[in-house]
Amino acid sequence: MNKDVIPTLKSYITFQKSNGIAPYIWTVLCILPFYFIFQAPSTVQIVLGILLTLTFFIFYRIAFISTKGWPVYLWTLLLIAISITATSLFSYVYFAFFLAYFLGNIKDRIAFFILYFIHLLSTSISINYGIVTHEKMFLQQLPFVVIIWISVILLPFSIYNRKERGQLEEKLEDANKRISELIKLEERQRIARDLHDTLGQKLSLIGLKSDLARKLITKDPEQARSELKDVQQTARTALSEVRKMVSSMRGIRLKEELPRIQQIMGAAEIDLVMEGDFSPKNISLLTENILSMCLKEAVNNVVKHSGAKTCVITMEQSWKEVMMKISDDGKFVAKEGETEEGHGLIGMKERLEFVNGSLGLSIKEGTTLTIRVPNDAKPG
Ligand code: ATP
Ligand code: MG
Repeated sequence: MNKDVIPTLKSYITFQKSNGIAPYIWTVLCILPFYFIFQAPSTVQIVLGILLTLTFFIFYRIAFISTKGWPVYLWTLLLIAISITATSLFSYVYFAFFLAYFLGNIKDRIAFFILYFIHLLSTSISINYGIVTHEKMFLQQLPFVVIIWISVILLPFSIYNRKERGQLEEKLEDANKRISELIKLEERQRIARDLHDTLGQKLSLIGLKSDLARKLITKDPEQARSELKDVQQTARTALSEVRKMVSSMRGIRLKEELPRIQQIMGAAEIDLVMEGDFSPKNISLLTENILSMCLKEAVNNVVKHSGAKTCVITMEQSWKEVMMKISDDGKFVAKEGETEEGHGLIGMKERLEFVNGSLGLSIKEGTTLTIRVPNDAKPG
């Protein structure tokens, strides 16, 4: 088989698959007018019918290019006029179906409603006219006429709504993309700020001190030596700060967070009970980082506010989500009589919402925080 034919064939097959039987229906509908036209009694009528059909399809194509502003009224009204003529001359009602499909694609809301009603009215009148005058061809195809009439009522709305939903989904996707861009930008700015504040400052200090040492080296070697020692010290501090920065950027895994939690609970003399597996599977690194941040904040709260004796941390993973529970037997301290939230709880909630998770807080015989995040990949 020719190489070029294969992709064309492939795209044809995918087109067929994605559109179902719709292309066949359209093809039949495009050929059908001629069947009706050739049944007309005179040659003049046949020629007129062919011209009318060709004009309809040309106008139909043009109308699809201009689905906004005044041209949309012009082309649609012309198409409606052709459709009425075809119905009354040849009992061919199926142009109404083409029109119903087109109306659903009109972008302007007002134009959509005006043209929808005009079309519905004109189609209903011409169909009734055909029935009242007992047109033979018309009565033969009555069931199809009814189908067309129903589709004239429903089809424009269904297409219009589907288009609107598609647009909304597109907007949502756009917004999500922008959010992730903003997050990246903020992270970059934070890194730049950190670099400037830590490394920038230290490096300029190193520059100044080594310059001073160079000048002092002959005049006052002792002082120069002490300056160089400072330089060495500053370089060391800078290095350790860079290391800290890099490790904070890498993100924390849950497992790495555990020793710190044991340490802090030990220092606060709170008994710590840990249940479950703390290395969740099927979740992304981002989700795990968010879980560790939440765990860290929850533990900080227990230590800071609860006055508890025991704290139980449970972690369970089901086929659909990870659940982490942090409960203590202390007393929930509400600020100014209300359960007003500080930055910690709100921050947790926001971060969890970002990965479609949720945060639950229940207060009875101590405080229990329930954190849930959906698995990113479903096993099996
Ligand atoms: P931040 O976390 O921003 O440093 P914060 O800890 O006060 O401040 P949140 O973590 O949002 O703020 O907590 C809100 C309030 O809820 C706390 O001030 C405290 O009164 C109460 N609280 C939270 N967790 C507990 C807990 N485990 N036991 C008792 N009270 C708690
Ligand atoms: Mg807190």
